[in-house]
Amino acid sequence: MLHDAGRFLALVNPAIALLLALCFLFAWHHERTRPHLLQLGACYLLAAAAIGLQVLWPPRAGGGPATIAGALYLGSAALLLHGMLARIGARPDRCAGVALPLALFGMVAWFDLVHPSLVARIYVLNVGVALILLPGVASLAPLRTGRTVDRVLLWVFVVFALQFLPRTLLALAPGTAHDAAALLPTPCWLWLQATLALLLLALGLALLAATAQDVIDDLRHERDTDPLTQLHTRRSLEALAARQIPPRPGEKLSVLLCDLDYFKFINDNYGHSAGDAVLTQVGRIIAAGIRRRDIAARLGGEEFVVLLPDTPHEAALQLAERLRQTLEQTSMDVLPGMGNVTASFGVATLRPGEDLEALLMRADNVLYAAKNNGRNCVEWEREAGVPALV
Ligand code: GH3
Ligand code: MG
Ligand code: MG
Repeated sequence: MLHDAGRFLALVNPAIALLLALCFLFAWHHERTRPHLLQLGACYLLAAAAIGLQVLWPPRAGGGPATIAGALYLGSAALLLHGMLARIGARPDRCAGVALPLALFGMVAWFDLVHPSLVARIYVLNVGVALILLPGVASLAPLRTGRTVDRVLLWVFVVFALQFLPRTLLALAPGTAHDAAALLPTPCWLWLQATLALLLLALGLALLAATAQDVIDDLRHERDTDPLTQLHTRRSLEALAARQIPPRPGEKLSVLLCDLDYFKFINDNYGHSAGDAVLTQVGRIIAAGIRRRDIAARLGGEEFVVLLPDTPHEAALQLAERLRQTLEQTSMDVLPGMGNVTASFGVATLRPGEDLEALLMRADNVLYAAKNNGRNCVEWEREAGVPALV
């Protein structure tokens, strides 16, 4: 019975590692911009080879294969560290990422080929893998405040790295390892194998889930972000506005519409790409001039909108005037000789029961009035009863 369980677990661990390696490599094949997938694929491939080698050639035997298995284990741990950090755009320092695994490999080879000692090899390998992985926890700390998948991944990684320390003691406890004569695994050995299988699986699945979430978030960001200005798209604005309308009791929601003046002239005289560069710069000016909770979007063409939660009419007018002046005073690098770009603004404040579309339509009407008034100015509905602040 124990014998069968032992054989099953001995095969299940490399099989799990191999399956996860294939998943990561398959994912990398489709997402080449995420090199961590290749590193993790290689990590699990080396782990599968290392565990498989130990099934065929138990560590007790030593004499060459143990050195190879050691190299595979340490390489796998180093790749895991690199992959985990690469996912968040970080890198391990040379010591933890390269020098330490190489030094540990030298020790494994020494205790296998020069001065054979199974106990020393078990120590070096288990404590070594923990030493390679644990410094990565500090770099991965930002995951603590991340999405749920990030937090789960961090804790699975910490448990995975830490368990190599008690594993050393358990592996060395009397009667733990295979009874070489009877080839019978002990319950403790079975437990060690089963936990390794579970942790390999949990870590691999957590990494795959986190990567899937990364892909989904990036696609969402792409869908909701205007590539030229990095502001919201109209679709994203509508989704975010739905959370602001109706505003909380006692709060006012205002909107400002902004349309660049004579933009066609810029395109016609400086070229479409110069026009694009102007739109990018205007996007940056708007983003820099508003609060974090304001929602700025490009509605299309050279028309921008900023939704201003908790902002009364007067404050919205002041913001529009500030943006108008900033634009007027900013020299556009891509327009030599032309000077600056100006814009006309229309400001409106949400009325009770009104939706975003109606609010934008009113703002558009006053923007039209601003164009008729000679451009480069801010307009608003006079019946709103606001003194001429601008
Ligand atoms: P007005 O002062 O009345 O607003 O005049 P205008 O020239 O700014 O307005 P009009 O609507 O006549 O022209 C807008 C131009 O914006 C026409 C179009 O070619 C250009 N445009 C629209 N989208 C883009 C874009 O994404 N990039 C560039 N470079 N130009 C764009
Ligand atoms: Mg225009
Ligand atoms: Mg326009």
